[in-house]
Amino acid sequence: MSTSDEQAQYELLRGNLESYDLSEEDIAVLGAEAGQYVVERPKALPVIAVVGRPNVGKSTLVNRIVGERVAVVQDTPGVTRDRVSYGASWTGRDFTLLDTGGWEVDVAGIDASVAKQAEVAIDHSDVVVLVVDATVGITNTDEQIVRLLRRSGKPIVLAANKVDSAMQEADAAYLWGLGLGEPYPVSAMHGRGTGDLLDAVMKVLPDESAVAEPTPEGGPRRIALVGRPNVGKSSLLNKLVGEERVVVDPLAGTTRDPVDEYAELDGESWMFVDTAGIRRRVHQASGADYYASLRTQAAIEKAELGLVLLDASEPLTEQDIRVMQQVVDAGRALVLICNKWDLVDEDRRAELDRELDRELSQLRWAERVNLSALTGWHTNRLTRAMETAITSWETRIPTGKLNAFLGELAAAHPHPVRGGKQPRILFATQPSACPPRFVLFASGFIEAGYRRFIERQLRETFGFDGTPIEISVRVRERRKRK
Ligand code: GDP
Ligand code: GDP
Repeated sequence: MSTSDEQAQYELLRGNLESYDLSEEDIAVLGAEAGQYVVERPKALPVIAVVGRPNVGKSTLVNRIVGERVAVVQDTPGVTRDRVSYGASWTGRDFTLLDTGGWEVDVAGIDASVAKQAEVAIDHSDVVVLVVDATVGITNTDEQIVRLLRRSGKPIVLAANKVDSAMQEADAAYLWGLGLGEPYPVSAMHGRGTGDLLDAVMKVLPDESAVAEPTPEGGPRRIALVGRPNVGKSSLLNKLVGEERVVVDPLAGTTRDPVDEYAELDGESWMFVDTAGIRRRVHQASGADYYASLRTQAAIEKAELGLVLLDASEPLTEQDIRVMQQVVDAGRALVLICNKWDLVDEDRRAELDRELDRELSQLRWAERVNLSALTGWHTNRLTRAMETAITSWETRIPTGKLNAFLGELAAAHPHPVRGGKQPRILFATQPSACPPRFVLFASGFIEAGYRRFIERQLRETFGFDGTPIEISVRVRERRKRK
């Protein structure tokens, strides 16, 4: 289709859309097409850490805030959980909630380990909710955490938990004695008072996180090197960065660990973010899984691209898949590294292909590189894969082109007729990139199968290798004639 045809069709569709009921937000989305479009870096959501002694009800509270969907409370003490951070929202504001309830507590030095854990959580958050058990009173451990919190200078909201009835509310008043301001009596178990608690948190919560710094404009590309233990992350980092690494920019709030490292690869500079956990075997002794998971999440948040390593010589595990899912959920570009290729023979190779095909069929778009961090074989292929993925991640399809493409697609493969009606795509736009997000205005419900078909066709036509893409559909009705 020629440019002038595209333009004519675009104007026709856009004109037609005027006869539909559009919300203010629709109009804002549509405004993005009129040239105000910028490639926006993803914002880092503010982080709320929920801290406190064991058994005060931290996990129950997290569960309550996140919603019934995830069951994080576990009956077996000492069992580490899969995840440490959850996306949640309150009164229309999105944030990340850090659960510290899954930490293993070293019984011998309980105070020390609780304090250590609280310290890490405080470093990674913007606001801290300190949970105390109002039925127990203030313990030495509580006081120790309070001292840490004071030193951090971060805003603190005090939750007096296990206040299951109005009668007990007055009892929580003694918690003013902690010197942290008003105690909010809550019952995490029954949901009492959690709304007031969250309202108080919202008052001190910034819009954007100061700890999970957003990716700055310009500068080197930021890469998160992630994967389960022993897949070869530190070996690859050593290969790429070498031993004469330049250490920059310590993690906000900490001065203990050097975290970001530069590498010059093929004449371009790359920044590997949050590598402290890779270089040094930190906190191996207690709660290792917890820290690893926290680090992974933090690194991904800071990066534009997740470089996920697998050990190609071993069967794919759930943990491998989970890390990949974390990258996709965060909306970052993705390159999959099949490491230890020196150990892979013909049989294993075929088996791996089958595993990837079976488990990761939704991620066929990921860029993949087989290499050996040990011998250095094919490590020179990394940069091209990372560049492709990031370019895709930043791609924006002009509105005219997008609508022309969808017009042709619908003409050749219309949406199936359902209940005598045929839903039509009225208009489409891509209001943002990083990762590419598409909004489709439609006259009726677009089935999941058809959405997937559109995604496949978009990928086939425009590339998007190495980046997740998001398609949302807004069903709009024709405006009623007055
Ligand atoms: P965590 O170790 O701080 O994460 O604590 P949990 O969330 O695992 O809770 C510890 C225990 O306290 C569990 O048996 C919960 O059922 C109980 N619990 C949590 N919140 C409340 C509450 O609001 N009221 C009462 N009565 N019990 C609670
Ligand atoms: P990390 O825990 O992901 O940082 O993994 P390491 O880099 O510490 O590697 C774990 C083990 O795998 C070490 O014994 C490495 O020498 C080994 N290893 C790493 N990469 C390769 C590779 O490409 N081939 C082989 N054969 N071994 C590797």
